[in-house]
This record gives sequence, C-alpha cells and structure tokens, in this order.
Amino acid sequence: MGSLKSVEPERIREKEHLVQDGMDISGHWNRMFEQRVIWEYTPELIEKVTDVEGAESFGWCYQCAQCVPVCPVNTVGDYAPRRIFRRVQTGMDLFTSPDLWQCTTCANCLRVCPKEVNMMNIMPAVRQEAVLEGNAPQELLDVFQNTFDYGNPLGESPKKRAAWTKKAGVDVPLMKDKKKADILWFVECYPSYHPRGIDASIAMARVLDALNIDYGILGAEEKCSCDSQRIAGEQGLFEEFAEHNIKLLKKYKVKNVVVTDPHALNALRHEYPKLGAKFKTIHYTTYLAPMMDKLDFKKELGYKVTFHDPCYLGRHNGEYDAPRDMLKAIPGVELTEMGRCRENSYCCGGGGGGMWLDGFMADHVTERLSERRVREAVETGADVLVVCCPYEVSRFEDAVKSTGNEGKLLVKDIIELVAEAMELV
Ligand code: SF4
Ligand code: SF4
Repeated sequence: MGSLKSVEPERIREKEHLVQDGMDISGHWNRMFEQRVIWEYTPELIEKVTDVEGAESFGWCYQCAQCVPVCPVNTVGDYAPRRIFRRVQTGMDLFTSPDLWQCTTCANCLRVCPKEVNMMNIMPAVRQEAVLEGNAPQELLDVFQNTFDYGNPLGESPKKRAAWTKKAGVDVPLMKDKKKADILWFVECYPSYHPRGIDASIAMARVLDALNIDYGILGAEEKCSCDSQRIAGEQGLFEEFAEHNIKLLKKYKVKNVVVTDPHALNALRHEYPKLGAKFKTIHYTTYLAPMMDKLDFKKELGYKVTFHDPCYLGRHNGEYDAPRDMLKAIPGVELTEMGRCRENSYCCGGGGGGMWLDGFMADHVTERLSERRVREAVETGADVLVVCCPYEVSRFEDAVKSTGNEGKLLVKDIIELVAEAMELV
C-alpha cells in the first residue's frame, strides 16, 4: 500500500522532453492537473440574465451545441442559444445586444436541448426589461404603439375590424347579435385587415356557411390576442388586451373557440389560463379536418403542393396531421414534403415579433428566413406553398418575389384551396 504514495508524485511530474508514439508531449502538455483560472469570463453578465424571472434556464446551458444546426436563424446568420450563451459568457450584455431580437421563438432548440434551456421563456423575460429601458428596435416600438392605439398591430381602424365580412357574399354572424353559438370564430388581426388574410377569411366564412355551422365572430369587439407582442417584450399590453378578450369571451355562450391564427391559439390555450380563463380552443385545421368528407367538392385542383408547418401550430401546439389530412382530402392536390417538416420544420421568421423586425434583421442575416424557406419549397417542384398561419401568406409572397420565383410558386392558405375546390371563390 505504501507504493500509492510513491506513485502519485511520479504520475503528475511534468516531463520536459517526452516523445510518445512519435508525438512530442513535452512540457506544458503534461501539466494537466493544475487549476485553470479563466479570467476572461463574465459570470456577472450571465447572472444578469438568469436573475430575471423566467430567464433562469439560460444558466443551464452546458455548451453541447445541439441547438446550433437546428436554429433557423443560424442558417442565415450566426446564432443559436449556444452562441448567445458563449457571447454573454465572454462579455456581451444580452440586454443591449442585437442578439436579443433575432430569436423567433420557433422552439426548435428546445426540442433538442438536453438541458431544457427555454428561449420561449428567456426571450420574453429579458425583452420585457429591455423594452422598459427603451432598448428595443424602433419598428417594434411602432407596432406596440399601433396595437395600443388601434387594437391591432397594423394600425387599422378598430371599427373596421369586421369590414371584410361585407365582401364574404355569405352572412357572417356577430356574437353580439347571436349571444350563443356552437363555435366562436376568433378571427384575429391579419385575417381581419391584411388583403391576403381577408382572402382566407372570406374562404373560411364560405366554407363554414356551406357546412351550416352555427358560429359567430366578435367583429369590432375583438382585440389582438397580442401573443407575439408578449413574446417581443410587451407583457403589459398583452395582459391588458387579454383581460378585454377574456371578458368578451365569457360574455357569450359557446362550445368551442376556433382560431385562424396559431399565435392566437397559443394565447388562448396557454396564456389566458394563467390569467384564470380557460376556453376550449382549437385551430381551424383541427376543427375542419374531420369534416372534409362532408364538403361538396366540385373540381380537381391539379396542384402539386408543399406544406409549411407554422411553429406555433406544430412545435408549440403539437398539431401536424390536421393540415395534412385536409390537403389529402382536397381533390387534385398532391402533397410533397420539404426536407425540413413537421417537428423539424423551418421557421418563416414571423414569430416572436419577427413579423415586425424585417428591417432590423436585414442587418444581421444573409437572407430572410422566409426567402430560405421559399427556396426549399421551390426545390420540391411544388406549384403551391400551402400555409395555415396568417403571418405566412404575406411573408412568403414577398419572399417569392424577392427570390425571383414569381410565376413559379403560389402561396395559399389551406382554406383557400378548400374553397377553390368547392368553387366558392
Ligand atoms: S442544446 Fe441546450 S445545453 Fe446544448 S448548447 Fe444549446 S442551449 Fe446549451
Ligand atoms: S427558438 Fe428558434 S430562433 Fe430562437 S434560438 Fe431557438 S432555434 Fe433559434
């Protein structure tokens, strides 16, 4: 046993001249037992983040880098939680860094992270502090102001929220007249105001009408669900609007709330319950997919399509099949998947406030996420890129133009294809 004592000092002795198997491992290469002191690290900047309520998991990162290849922003830039952590660890203040605004909260990193570093909690928490300090991109602050002033991020008149219904050609009932219905359709902002969102809303109204669904909309009473504003750092605005919508939804007697927008789905399903209000809420694809055999299709469309999973429908809310079931039921639609689909789907760039940060992002990425995704869609040989989130139609249509693919690829909401095959549009 005495030999142990004599072996230990021998084992750690540094050999100044040692060549082993042809490799020179002399000098400091042997000095592996010394304590390393890392002077350049800035743990106080990590703690500044982890001290914020909600952002604690930032400190759990152990730099395994699983998140790097799946982060969509990294494919067009230099990003991912690992990179952010490393930069904070070596001197970057996240609160004032452009890194704070690039995450779309797409949740693909969380899917693979062994430590459950949760950017969906970290980003809103830190952004909220930055917004309070006035450290947010101006284009985002403008959207917050529009939402505050008009009840929608587009800055459109709240009174005209239901103006689109006049073009629907069918009766679109208001809950304030009906008081009760089987379905309350929570339309949201882009489907109420954006021209391409309105196209999808008109198609939806006609399909619901053809199915004789007992439904109503909130019209001018409805305000933005504000889920994206919340994630972009405006928790106060979110809560104020949530209280308004909750009061409204409680006023009416309905069995289900159906939403067009996966961001509204996220708010009603996951955030409103935190404020004490639970509504049975489903996305319109989940609602309509089981009814596809009841629809009176009149023509074969003859489209080869590919489908983009919205992050807030797929990864955030687990719905991958309903949109595909709908597509498979439409006559003359052939679905081809893109390489990145379902759980590993790419992001359109619109989530988490990205919808309003295109100007800011242009300085930090080589191309927009929507442009990268359009290239992937074109590679499948599809004629139509099909979506079911109101952010995506306008983002992808812009990207089709900016990537020079106009005339090669159409962008359509699933409900537009349904209505087209039923000859309702
Ligand atoms: S996957 Fe998680 S633990 Fe690994 S580097 Fe990324 S954030 Fe850190
Ligand atoms: S949530 Fe998405 S965009 Fe944000 S860091 Fe994770 S993978 Fe990247």
